[in-house]
Amino acid sequence: MALRQGRKDDKDARIAELEAQLAEAQADGGFCPECGSYESTNPRHTDTNYRVCSNCGQERWIDIDYSSVIAAHLGELAQAQADAEQLRNVRYDFASAIEKLPEIPSVSVLEFLSSAAYSAPSIVKDKGKELQRIHGIKMIPPTAEIEWAAGLWSVIRDAMREGDE
Ligand SMILES: [Zn+2]
Repeated sequence: MALRQGRKDDKDARIAELEAQLAEAQADGGFCPECGSYESTNPRHTDTNYRVCSNCGQERWIDIDYSSVIAAHLGELAQAQADAEQLRNVRYDFASAIEKLPEIPSVSVLEFLSSAAYSAPSIVKDKGKELQRIHGIKMIPPTAEIEWAAGLWSVIRDAMREGDE
C-alpha cells in the first residue's frame, strides 16, 4: 500500500511539474501549431508577438488563433489512423483468402491485388472477365483492374491448390 501511495505521489509530482512547464511555455508564447513544440525564439525584437519554432522553424504570431491549423492536423492524423486500420483489415483479409482459397476473394483483396495485376499477361487478365461472367459484378466489380486481379487470384489459387496435392 505504501509503495502504491509512493507511486501516486510520484505521478502527482510529475503532473504538477508538467503543468508548471505548460504554464511557463504558454506564458512564453504557447506551442507551435505545426509540430507542438513549446521551444521558440523571437529573433525580431520589434514585434514581441513574433516567434520562430526552435524545433521545425515555423514562424507564428502568438496573438493569432491557430486552432483551425491544429484541427486540420488532427483531421490528417485521424485519416492516417483510418488508413492504417484499413490496411490492417486488408492484410487480414488477404491472409484469410490465402488460407481458405475461395474461388473469388473479397473485393478488398481484389483491390489489394489490382496494382500487381496490371503487369499480368493478357491470358491472366482475360480469365478475370470470364470469372466475372460466371460470378457476376457483385463478386467482381466491373473495373478493368479488379477483373485483372480476379484473373491473377485465380492463377495464384490454382498454383496453391496444385502445390497442395
Ligand atoms: Zn514547430
